[in-house]
Amino acid sequence: MSQSLSTDVLIVGGGIAGLWLNARLRRQGFATVLVECGSLGGGQSLKSQGIIHGGAKYALHGALTGASEAIADMPRRWREALAGAGELDLSGVRILSDAHYLWSPGTLAGNLTSFFASKAVRGRVDQVKGEQLPPALQHPKFKGKVYRLAELVLDVPSLIARLAELAGDGLLAGRQVEPLREGDELCGLIVDGREIRAQRVVLSAGAGNAELLAALGIEQPAQQLRPLHMVLAKGPALKPLYAHCLGGGPKPRVTVTTHPAADGQWVWYLGGDLAEADGVARDEGAQVTAAQKEMAALLPWVDQSQTRWATLRVDRAEPAQSGLVRPDNAFLAEQQNLLVGWPTKLALAPDFADRVLATLQRDGVTPAHHASLPELPRPALGQPVWETLLP
Ligand code: FAD
Repeated sequence: MSQSLSTDVLIVGGGIAGLWLNARLRRQGFATVLVECGSLGGGQSLKSQGIIHGGAKYALHGALTGASEAIADMPRRWREALAGAGELDLSGVRILSDAHYLWSPGTLAGNLTSFFASKAVRGRVDQVKGEQLPPALQHPKFKGKVYRLAELVLDVPSLIARLAELAGDGLLAGRQVEPLREGDELCGLIVDGREIRAQRVVLSAGAGNAELLAALGIEQPAQQLRPLHMVLAKGPALKPLYAHCLGGGPKPRVTVTTHPAADGQWVWYLGGDLAEADGVARDEGAQVTAAQKEMAALLPWVDQSQTRWATLRVDRAEPAQSGLVRPDNAFLAEQQNLLVGWPTKLALAPDFADRVLATLQRDGVTPAHHASLPELPRPALGQPVWETLLP
């Protein structure tokens, strides 16, 4: 059996939630170990579009009620961290776009009128024209209106790599996780047969939380999975575009982000309504056809003859929705020494960490003395989806 370990906080799951929390705890002097059974970021995080939402999108359907929501403060916190002056030093992480755009292909849609009147977006949205338009929209045939939102888009692979660096020697590749108890109390976990004692255990395993909770014999909080059928397009004629394209409904008709492939080409990653219910019901071929039609209708001047297409099915893991769950905050539940949660968005990882830190502070949990860690088997970094699906 491997040497047993002790630490202050034992984290299970190396997506954005676990990695961000881990880095913040270490910065505050806590000892941590983070267990990952697959690759770092390889769950939802590296499949996300990397938009650091400030909540503007949610104002479209009135879900964002005011500046009190945690999400409204996220772009500022991320910007500070990216400048090396915030709660974490993320200088060196690649920013793909300093802004995300709202793009109305026709005349100003009715729902935009109330959107611009809402408190959440007032003073945060500017119309852009001509050379200020995103490169993919700079064409004489372009019609429509485009507004700049103060929301960043990040290169998630470089973010995950930086957070893995900040994790130092505390990352552990481990497959099997069982509870370690003293009497009725959880005092750590047994990971692949190795005992790891901790003051607190945090489950931030995304879709894996449900199975981990079941293994610990815990029924609450319940998890829900929201399936998506995303589309990827890669070709020499594609130019950068980071935008929610609005249709008539409350959700963006399509949300486009653009990612750099290793061979120098751009990859469009398409979500929004296209990837939801009807998109989930389509098979891969029909989903590609739907995406091709949509992009040809919206950007008819782009030569797609050499574009290659692929789709990706992925579930968003969240707490089961009830009236008590607010969509624009991270979610954390606790049971004695166990904390479990979902950030619900990549952008909300700082809020997830805040919630864990607040419980530690409330309970008087402080850094204790631990023997230094031996060399642990380290989980690999996950691969960007566009490299595996469209090499
Ligand atoms: P994950 O990234 O899923 O990480 C969980 C980790 O836990 C995984 O690495 C997994 O291998 C590991 N794990 C699971 N079980 C175990 C176990 N038993 N033992 C050890 N490890 C385990 N949010 C935004 O803010 N902006 C966006 O633009 C955005 N776009 C998105 C697009 C898509 C298609 C999807 C699916 C989501 C998007 N999101 C976005 C949401 C965002 O990706 C997620 O909310 C966030 O990544 C969740 O992070 P996480 O760390 O909780 O989970």
